[in-house]
Amino acid sequence: MDKPNRKTLLEELRIELQERIQRYEDHRHRISGVLDKDLEEQVSQALNDEVVDRLQDEATTELAQVERALARIDAQLGERCEKCGDTITAGRLEALPYTTRCKNCVAA
Ligand SMILES: [Zn+2]
Repeated sequence: MDKPNRKTLLEELRIELQERIQRYEDHRHRISGVLDKDLEEQVSQALNDEVVDRLQDEATTELAQVERALARIDAQLGERCEKCGDTITAGRLEALPYTTRCKNCVAA
């Protein structure tokens, strides 16, 4: 079987992230409607909300990065580092399909 290409992988990842963000949104709306919980439940719910908030932030950041990588692929720049313009190695793109920088520019 052929390896799926990078764009296909990213498009699948985008759908997955969008679904995840939607689930976090659903969670947020569902809990905000419930007010008759006892205190212990409210506390554990608040902790849970923090975790969900953090996960949602992470997913949103990741989605933005996936969108950026897809935009660069569409612009025929998918294999170029957005910072220095060097070619991003195939191995790196395989390991991190959503990257838009070469390994020398990641930390910068
Ligand atoms: Zn670079």
